[in-house]
Amino acid sequence: MLLNDLVHLFFPKYCGACSGPLIDPKDELCLACENKLIFKSQPNCSELKKALRGRVKVISAAFLNDFNKHESMQKAIHAVKYHKRKRLAIFLAEHLSIKLGKPFFEKIDCIIPVPLHEKKMKTRGFNQCHLIAQGIQNKTSIPIRYDHLLRKKYTESQTHKNRLERWENVENAFEITNEEALKNKHLLLVDDVFTTGATLEACIKTIQKKIICDCSVITLAKA
Ligand SMILES: [Zn+2]
Repeated sequence: MLLNDLVHLFFPKYCGACSGPLIDPKDELCLACENKLIFKSQPNCSELKKALRGRVKVISAAFLNDFNKHESMQKAIHAVKYHKRKRLAIFLAEHLSIKLGKPFFEKIDCIIPVPLHEKKMKTRGFNQCHLIAQGIQNKTSIPIRYDHLLRKKYTESQTHKNRLERWENVENAFEITNEEALKNKHLLLVDDVFTTGATLEACIKTIQKKIICDCSVITLAKA
């Protein structure tokens, strides 16, 4: 018996979306959830663009699943953030990238994960947007710029805030650190969930206030 099998026997691994037991510890989702959240779902390439219209200009914007259609997607994101299911985030991002295919990524120069504040990074130990960026890079080989956009303001959780409060919370929260490297480039901003779009709007506004560049957006889910 392999060590891995032994570990699995004593510490069984569960599906990141429905908490059902997983037969193979290398899996992240059970077959039913994988079918629902990945194989049978088509990325949505219109809704986020529509939601950001009149606020910031984006070239393309896509997400994998809607929380309203798939409650289990919400559970999957929760598992990534609060149960440190890091491979699940990478796995979902890889599949989203495959589904979007070459045309979506053709003109993109670099991936910018939405940054966490240093303090939050310390308490959580990782930034889930880095993992999503990693998954996209695995399938596209597009470079990731981890430190060209920083979160300088510590913001409270957005969870219980309304649209206006969310905007006030993130307005002026970000800072661009390397204008030269991003100038005239096509940037792909990456976040885990699109709720009101306030975070991505603030990121893009911060960048485009300083430099001329194109921006596209990817999130794993829409709330
Ligand atoms: Zn499942």
